[in-house]
This record gives sequence, structure tokens and C-alpha cells, in this order.
Amino acid sequence: MPRNSLDIRIIMGTRPEIIKFAPIIRELKNQNIYFDVIFTDQHFDYNLSKKFFEELELDNPKYHLNIGKGTQGEQTGKAIIGIDKILIKEPSNLVLVQGDTNSSLAGALAAVKLHNKIGHIEAGLRSYDYRMPEEYNRRIIDHISDLLFAPTEKSTKILENENVWGKIFCTGNPIIDACNQHFNYAEKKSEILSNIPFENYILVTTHRAENVDNPSVLNNLVGTFLEVPIPIVFPAHPRTINRLKQFSLYKKLINSKKILILPPIGYFDLLKLMYHCAFIITDSGGIQEEATAPIMRKFTFVIRKTTDRPESCELGFSKVVGTDKDVILTNIKEFLRNPPKLSNKSPYGDGKASQKIISIIIKELDI
Ligand code: UDP
Repeated sequence: MPRNSLDIRIIMGTRPEIIKFAPIIRELKNQNIYFDVIFTDQHFDYNLSKKFFEELELDNPKYHLNIGKGTQGEQTGKAIIGIDKILIKEPSNLVLVQGDTNSSLAGALAAVKLHNKIGHIEAGLRSYDYRMPEEYNRRIIDHISDLLFAPTEKSTKILENENVWGKIFCTGNPIIDACNQHFNYAEKKSEILSNIPFENYILVTTHRAENVDNPSVLNNLVGTFLEVPIPIVFPAHPRTINRLKQFSLYKKLINSKKILILPPIGYFDLLKLMYHCAFIITDSGGIQEEATAPIMRKFTFVIRKTTDRPESCELGFSKVVGTDKDVILTNIKEFLRNPPKLSNKSPYGDGKASQKIISIIIKELDI
């Protein structure tokens, strides 16, 4: 039986989940609510997982599942088996998952089969790009969750139109809370700029399977990075480094004097690099959101065919430019000729999403 008061299991397994759960965990602690963290180790590299627990001063998770690398099915299957065992041993009255990873899907599936209630943070995002495994994950999670925390009015509408069975709440996204909570510390403490040999630079990240696993797309992106008119700082995901090497593109990048490739960097270094960059080129979801925080306000070129963050484009914070070199370069030239004025307001909330989410949980579970 769950403990008499609120008793929550948080399931996570990747870098962005640790960052987005950090403000939620702080709020749970503030409110004295019991929770355990189950970390699947979908991201097992120190630089993508443990480093973030340490930097963000989060306790080491009570459970590690060590699922590691594998096919979509293997990762999801191993995580379900591990989570199932824990939930049977330690039933909870709410399982919280965030976003669209295999770990989140596994958490939601394990929970629903044991009749545990599910809360989905970052519900209602859709890219309508069916090459993305994340698109299936998030749809399934949304349709089996009891409490759906949609970041925006648009994601709320999507869930309403899909007739999900759970209750929908528009709360904002805890990524803005995370950005606000860590920004000042990052500005003071991060020394990353002393390692950057450029005065002015573009922050680049790419790691999505549909970009880096496809040799012709990756080749095209590398060609673009070599031709952009401003130097590039590129903290690269281990998957991206592997693919660059596999497709014989890595040397081209490291031989360029205008490109600095870094290993994945910590959150404080990332925030500092983002704040001081000219603009961003990325396929990251979290970075598209963070760039809209009033404290940050950076323009982002989204190197994808679609985006699940259309609110950022509509408010003028970003533009989806696809992966064609000429199209990306033309857009960058236009941006430099005529830089847009960015709004003071983020479409992803006011930095109080975690407080809103926890108050809703307390009210809805009424324990
Ligand atoms: N991030 C980081 N270091 C890096 C790259 C990204 O701390 O080297 C942070 C970034 O600030 C954002 C999150 O990781 O909060 C985004 O994760 P990622 O791009 O891996 O995943 P996505 O958001 O696309 O799911």
C-alpha cells in the first residue's frame, strides 16, 4: 500500500528529464511530500546523467535500472520490467513522468498496468513527424495519463481535441523554472567563456536520430556549419560524435578554425554559453524552450522539418529551417541583416510551473 499521505514515484532516464524535474523535486521537498526517484540510466554517460544530479544538487536516485543502450523496444522493455518490480514492491498514489523518452513511456505503461495514477508533465506536444520515436511515446503517454500538465494553451487544445481521458491543466513548462533558478549561479560560477577562443559565436547542438543517424542529413549539416559567417561552439552529444566519426565527418569539423567541438557540457556552462551567444542552431526541444526565458531571450534556428514547440516560432523566438544548407544559410543572412526584436514573455510559462503542478497534484489526489 502507498503511504497514507502523498507518495510519488518519479521516473526519469535522460539529461533533459533531470533538468526539468529539478524544480519539481525542489517543490516536493518544500511541501514535505514523499517521493522516490527511479532512474532508468537510458542516459548512462557521466556527462549526460550523474553530472547533472551533482550540479543541480539532487540526491542520488533511490533506484537505478541500468537499461543502457539498445533498440527502442529493448530500452522500453527493460525499463518496464525494472519499474514494474519497484511499483509492485512500493506502490505509490502517483507516478510522475515528463516528456517523451522511452523511460517516460515505460514508466507510464508499468504504472497503468498496476492501476497507479499517472501524471504527465509536458503533455500535449506534437510534431506530427512520424519518423520520431518520441512522437509515438508522447501520444501513448498522454492517452493513459490521469493528470496532464500541458505547458501552453496550444498543447491544452491538442489534448482536448484528442479526447484524452485524463484531466488537463495548463501550467507552463518547468524548464523556465529551471532556467530562472540556475541562471544567476551559472553566470557567476561558470568559467566556460575563458575556454572559448571567439568573441562572437553561434551555439550549436544536434542529436536527434532523424538528423544524426542519416548520413546525407548529417553531411549537409556539417557543410552548413563550415559555411556559417560566425564561429561555432558545438557541445556535442556522444551519439553525434559517434555518427560524425562513423560517416567520416568528424575531422572536417575539428580541422576548421571556426568550429569548437566540446563534449556534452554541464547545465551551468550551457546556460552561460547560451546567454552570451549571437544566436542558436539546434534540434533540441529543451534549448528551444530555454531560449524564450525572459532572462535569456535568444533567437533559435530549428534544424528540423517540423517542431513540437510552435509557440516559440509564433512569438518570433525561432524559425524552423529544415536541414538544407542553402535554406539555412539564406535564413541566417536574413537574420543578421534584420535581427528580430524578441518578446519579453515566454510562451512556456512564468517560471512557476512546478509550484502549479504540485498544488494541482495535492488538490486532485486529496489524500
Ligand atoms: N544541455 C546541457 N548541456 C549540453 C546540451 C544540452 O546542459 O551540452 C541541456 C539544455 O540546456 C537543455 C537540455 O539539456 O536544458 C536539452 O537536452 P537535449 O537537447 O539532450 O534533449 P531534448 O530537449 O531535445 O529532449
